[in-house]
Amino acid sequence: MSSPALSYEKVRDHLSVLSLPSALAGLDSVLEEGQKQERTTVEIIDHLLTLERTDRFDRRIKLNLKLSGIAVAKTLESFDFDAQSSISKATLDELATLRFLHQGDNLLFLGPPGVGKSHLAIGLSLCALKQGHRVYFLTLHDLVTKAQNARQKNRLGALRNTLIRPDLLLLDEIGYLPLETPDASFLFDIVSYRYDKGRSIILTSNKSYANWGDIFPDPILATALLDRLLHHSTTINIRGDSYRLKHRRQAGLHTETKG
Ligand code: ADP
Ligand code: MG
Repeated sequence: MSSPALSYEKVRDHLSVLSLPSALAGLDSVLEEGQKQERTTVEIIDHLLTLERTDRFDRRIKLNLKLSGIAVAKTLESFDFDAQSSISKATLDELATLRFLHQGDNLLFLGPPGVGKSHLAIGLSLCALKQGHRVYFLTLHDLVTKAQNARQKNRLGALRNTLIRPDLLLLDEIGYLPLETPDASFLFDIVSYRYDKGRSIILTSNKSYANWGDIFPDPILATALLDRLLHHSTTINIRGDSYRLKHRRQAGLHTETKG
């Protein structure tokens, strides 16, 4: 056995070489506290490793959030359920357990503009990120732009990986623009692959399924896509007026003209 002083140096070196920076930074305080509280050796080791794991998890969440493309912090806590009677808080609380994600189910939020579809979809995605899941968010418009760029640069494979790998894909605003055949096929490929792997998608759309034929160039493709999306899924229909408009009206800022 080496001397205690040497052992201390060696432990520091181990933590550094093994890339355990948080354990290294916390070593002195963990040892001091261990001594003061008369902790056992195993408790001290546990404390040190917990420190490293907690910091590592926090770093992972921060990185995943950065990579997710989610730029606005729309949380479930900031959603006003009293203002939105077509959806219950209990339903969202159940979804926030992320059971759907573990089961590979899809979630589809349907409804007119401004009723909170994206807010709730992002809120649930933030729950998933907090639990350490990888999430990727984009609008259908982003997807089309990215796919067109990628095709020109011969990088469609890389984009495909970005969209199939995350634990959760959030596809926002389906239905505002009709798709051309190559983009529709690309989307179908992504949805099919994720379906086969049991990886969830959250999707928002202002169009009911009956009108999805308008978005896709080919009705057979639309049916096949819906088939995969809906097989293991929950659809949440949100009704009502636009939240922003309602609030502007309440604040007396919106004047309706009668003609
Ligand atoms: P949609 O995606 O259905 O078009 P959004 O989720 O973008 O609508 O909502 C529009 C705006 O109104 C967003 O800023 C959103 O945060 C806010 N909003 C909508 N519904 C609510 C609600 N019930 N409570 C709090 N904010 C809401
Ligand atoms: Mg939206």
